[in-house]
Amino acid sequence: MIYFDYASTTPVRKQIIDTYIKVLSSYYGNSDSMHEVGRTANKLMEQSREQIAQLLKVDKDEVIFTSCASEANNLAIKGYAWKYQHRGKHIITSRVEHSSVLKSVEQLKDVFGFDVTYLPVNEDGVISLDDLKQALRPDTILVSLMMVNNETGACNPIEECANYIKANSRAVIHVDAVQGMGKLPLTCALYDMVSFSAHKIYGLKGSAVLYKKKNIELVSLISGGQQEMGLRGGTSNAPQNIVLAKTLRLMLEEQELSFAYVSSLNQILRNAFASMDGWYVNSPKQASPYILNVSCAYIGSEILLNALNTRGFAVSAKSTCSSKSKVQSHVLKEMGLEEFRTTNAIRISLSSMTTKQEVYALIEALKEIYHEYRTK
Ligand code: PLP
Repeated sequence: MIYFDYASTTPVRKQIIDTYIKVLSSYYGNSDSMHEVGRTANKLMEQSREQIAQLLKVDKDEVIFTSCASEANNLAIKGYAWKYQHRGKHIITSRVEHSSVLKSVEQLKDVFGFDVTYLPVNEDGVISLDDLKQALRPDTILVSLMMVNNETGACNPIEECANYIKANSRAVIHVDAVQGMGKLPLTCALYDMVSFSAHKIYGLKGSAVLYKKKNIELVSLISGGQQEMGLRGGTSNAPQNIVLAKTLRLMLEEQELSFAYVSSLNQILRNAFASMDGWYVNSPKQASPYILNVSCAYIGSEILLNALNTRGFAVSAKSTCSSKSKVQSHVLKEMGLEEFRTTNAIRISLSSMTTKQEVYALIEALKEIYHEYRTK
């Protein structure tokens, strides 16, 4: 199978598998136990936390291990809203966020009486600073925005947003950086909270981080022991947390080289689609090169995905979380694209592991499929 679904998840790096197996078998202790077995696991986990903090240029006690970025997003949004609701009950997010953000704010709205403003996006799929300025109110306590959209690769102006919020409001900003971490430059300390996931950067599934500024308090989602500074009860998954530092380090070390290489692959695809009849590129020009969203005028995404799958190519429709439903992509719809583009879209996602030969093979397969279905 030729893999083009890296935005959904990545293979695990060989070095990470090797380290994980070693850690899993040697350091099995409960990191909260007082004896040497537990203390050793705890020491290694805290070393990993320290290394992650150094890599992100933040403090060690600002790094919280979670089970996935969905959990990190839930903790950031609900944990903050519950803690600071006495200051106001207004939250701002965008209409094209990942479901873990959208469902979190929806729950705050429906069950806990919060008021939510959903920022629109323009035809490039990005929010505007002006809309954010208009939406901010004295009772706004939290703004949650994604760095890179998972369906289109569109990049939000999060730095400008953070600067404006800091200078003009008491609200804090949370950034869902799942599709940006290790791929595009990111200065975590500019934001109040940042989420990212290990399985998008060649690490393990079930492993993620919420960076949270020291002065911020959160209400925990999982009540229990004192693990993760009391923010998530339950025995720590020390082996996974231990290998996350290495996962992040390897990703950041190759960030610049990968970006240049993946940009060249993305350009090959864009050039090909520009010369192919009936194809539309939905990702904006300035999008992250790791994601390219395209639609075919005549073939629905399900048929296209199946035809690609039969030929040995793994590609997604929209985001993985909603790829099994036939509905339009809410992200492409919000960008104002014609209906056929919102229902016929597929997401090609790339990585430094993708070869040029694989890209050319995909282009040939798409041409063949197009020819086959067009003439049916
Ligand atoms: N946020 C974005 C932008 C994503 O793309 C994803 C996963 O696809 C998530 C959050 C959720 O990540 P996880 O699978 O670690 O829960």
